Formats: sequence, structure tokens, C-alpha cells
Amino acid sequence: MNIPTSNLPRIVIIGGGFAGVNLSKKLANKNVQVVLLDKHNYHTFQPLLYQVSSSGLEPDSIAYPLRKIIKKHKTSFFRLAEVKEIVAERNEIITDIGSLSYDYLVIATGTKTNFFGNQAIKANGMPMKTVSQALDIRSLILQNFEKAAITNSKEERKAFLNFVIVGGGPTGVELAGAIAELKNHILPRDYHDLNADDMSIHLMEGNERVLSAMSEHASKKAEEFLSALGVKVHCKTFVEDYDGVNVTTNSDLKMQSETLIWAAGVTGAPVKGLHAEALVEKMNRYTVNHYNQVEGYKNIFAIGDIALMKTEGYPKGHPQVAQPAIQQGKLLGNNLIKLINNKKMKPFIYKDKGSMATIGRNKAVVDLKHYKFGGFFAWFVWMFIHLMSLVGFRNRVIVLFNWSYNYINFDKAARLIIRPFKK
Ligand SMILES: Cc1cc2nc3c(=O)[nH]c(=O)nc-3n(C[C@H](O)[C@H](O)[C@H](O)COP(=O)(O)OP(=O)(O)OC[C@H]3O[C@@H](n4cnc5c(N)ncnc54)[C@H](O)[C@@H]3O)c2cc1C
Repeated sequence: MNIPTSNLPRIVIIGGGFAGVNLSKKLANKNVQVVLLDKHNYHTFQPLLYQVSSSGLEPDSIAYPLRKIIKKHKTSFFRLAEVKEIVAERNEIITDIGSLSYDYLVIATGTKTNFFGNQAIKANGMPMKTVSQALDIRSLILQNFEKAAITNSKEERKAFLNFVIVGGGPTGVELAGAIAELKNHILPRDYHDLNADDMSIHLMEGNERVLSAMSEHASKKAEEFLSALGVKVHCKTFVEDYDGVNVTTNSDLKMQSETLIWAAGVTGAPVKGLHAEALVEKMNRYTVNHYNQVEGYKNIFAIGDIALMKTEGYPKGHPQVAQPAIQQGKLLGNNLIKLINNKKMKPFIYKDKGSMATIGRNKAVVDLKHYKFGGFFAWFVWMFIHLMSLVGFRNRVIVLFNWSYNYINFDKAARLIIRPFKK
């Protein structure tokens, strides 16, 4: 790989997600050479993927070029590359564009969709982990509306207008709310020849309640908000099979649907090569110490979703959400400089800033350490935090404009089938 040689220690970062980007910002213009690698040339703001899927936002407002993030970092380089293997004995990585040596390696590869070994659902369900997958979902929803409009069969129309979302975590809940808004505000206007009552949205959750990682207050409120929007919530329900039309669950509940969106879980996205003890196989996460050093290696680190750091407060590791990734990225930036200068590194202590989920217009739930609330104020807080967390001023302005426009007009402007989805 063509990277200028220098006398500076080389830090290679695999992954430009929340963890990798925050790390590379911390290392900017320090006495190190940084090489940031990602298989996409942009950073994805995953919390808003569901708005791309449901036609609320264009994809380029939630993605940001990685080269733009590091453009002022004089000793940093970006390469569009997928890392295939780590050869730790030679301090080298192998990618699809060649190999590269490192002094320090940081793995920040995040997660991928977990289908829990169910091949039928993997083949026929729709994951929502990347921008292109979110665009596929958007196309499929709109294509199914079009197909529903032309079929003469009542049964077929029902299947085209029946949307099944599996997984009642924040992603599933938010997506269900957004699709319900399509039913309530877009379908009656754009498709006046269709009966909006024919459209149904089912949210399937294996646990006893949706948002099971949040408080009971948040779950209860979310279920109230969802049913007010017309979403049918099925708790203690596992989807067991899906052939592209027929949905089978662990209970008597069966239905036909042309769209099944899988938001039921993720698993780590490790890179081949490190010794077996470094990886907790069940979760596909690297075991790291309190400095994010991967077990058994002095110069290899893992941060963000892919890292499993067991602490007293988090015996099963930190939650796989943005804040631990951001905080670990920032701390590791300082720690690597300390390590290079033979100074003592600081252990990672997670500062939990709370959790939240939105369920459509004016409705959200927020859990803070000492305060839990829901409704309009929570929705406002949710919007403000997500807007400020987006990378890039332009993206913030575009998203704010879109949200304001959508709010005033009860509209979702991005309902375009740009790249049709083929099942
Ligand atoms: C739909 C969805 C909604 C979410 N909503 C929320 C939310 O509301 N709040 C919240 O806090 N968290 C949310 N999360 C979780 C949050 O996005 C993750 O916790 C966070 O992105 C983790 O950051 P990371 O840097 O560890 O990994 P990621 O952000 O996933 O970044 C990993 C990067 O590594 C790259 N990569 C992976 N493998 C390779 C390879 N072999 N070679 C090169 N590059 C590679 C990927 O392209 C990617 O850019 C959501 C996640 C999803 C999928």
C-alpha cells in the first residue's frame, strides 16, 4: 500500500465509525503517522439509518466523507480498503489493496447483523446496518406500495402492505414508528386509491417488553405511543422462519408479508488472524484490558462495539452504542501518545449519558440516571442531541431543514425509488 515512509511511529486504525473517527481526531497533528482504513469512504451516522429507510432523510445527510474529516491532519492518511487479515508476528495487515506494516494497530470494526444462524431469514429478510441496506429498505417499501396499487388480489395487496419488523430495541421501535407515519400521513395522500386501513405494521420482540435495555417506564410509554400510531406489538414472540412471504413465529401468530426487516441483533465484525484467546467467540468481540489493549498483545488495541472490556459496573462489557465507542476513541488517542512517550496510560471509565428512543412525531422516551421522561420534551431532546451529534455543519443544516419541512407539512420528502431493490 502506498503510504509515505517516515520516522514517526505508524498507528493504523481499521474502521472509520464513531470509535475510529474520534481516535483519529485525537491523534491529529501529533508526532505520529496515522493511517485510517475503511471499506467505505464515509462515516455513517447509524442512529438515523431508519430515517433513510422510511424516506425521511436522504442518505448523504447521515454520511460524511472520511477524507474530509482528516483533511487538515498533516500526518494522517485515508485508504479505501477492506482489511482481510492481521499478521501480528510481522506487525502487518493484509487488505484488498495490499499489505501495510504498523507500529500500533487499532481495531474499530464495529458489528455486523446477527441472524443467529437462521439462513432463511438471512436470505429473505432486510438488514439495516449500512447506508445501502437502508436504501434497499426504502426502495422495497415504496415498490411494495406501487405493487399494492396495481394488484387485483386482496390477499396479495395485504401482503404488500404488511410490514414486519423483528426486534423491539431502539432501532425496531424507531423504524416501526416511522413506517406508521408513512401509513398515517403519506399513504392517504400519495395513494388515495389505496385504503390505508389495509396497511399494517407488526413489531415482533422476543423479550417481555420492547426497549428491554431501558427502564420499564420507557418500555410502557413506547408501547403506548406505538399502539396510538397503529403498530401491533407482539412481545415474547420469536420469528422462526420467513420465505419471502410467509412469516412463522414461535406462537400461533402467522402472517404474509412482502417486507420483513431484521433489527434483532448484531455481532462483532472481527478481522481474521489474532490468536483464539483474544476473541470471545459467542459475541465476536475482542477481550481488552482497561486500556483497550487486546488480550495477549502489547501493540494491538480494540475500541467501540468490537471491544469487550469487563468492568465491575459492566461485567458483560459496555453496551454496543455510540457513547462507549466515542469515549474509548478519545481516551485511546491520549493513551497512545502517553505510551509512545513512556508515560502511564489512563484506564477507561465509561460515563453513561443515558439512553433514548423516538417513536414518531412529538413522541420519544429518555432515560437519564436520575430522571426518566417521555413525550414532546423527550422528542425535542432526542432531536437536539441527534442533530448536534451529526458530523459536519452541512449535514446538520440539511437534517434540520428536512425535519422542519417534514414537521410542518406532515411529509417525508425522500420517497424516491432511485435504485430499485430486487428480491
Ligand atoms: C440501525 C442502528 C441504529 C443505532 N442507533 C443508535 C442510537 O440511537 N444510539 C446509539 O448510541 N447507538 C446506536 N446504534 C449503535 C451505534 O451506531 C454503534 O454502537 C456505533 O456505531 C459503534 O461505533 P464503532 O466505531 O465501534 O463501529 P461502527 O460505527 O460500526 O464503525 C465500524 C467501521 O468499520 C468499518 N469496517 C468494518 N470492518 C472492516 C474491515 N474489515 N475493513 C475495513 N473497514 C471495516 C465499517 O465500514 C465501519 O465504518 C445504532 C446502530 C444501528 C445499526
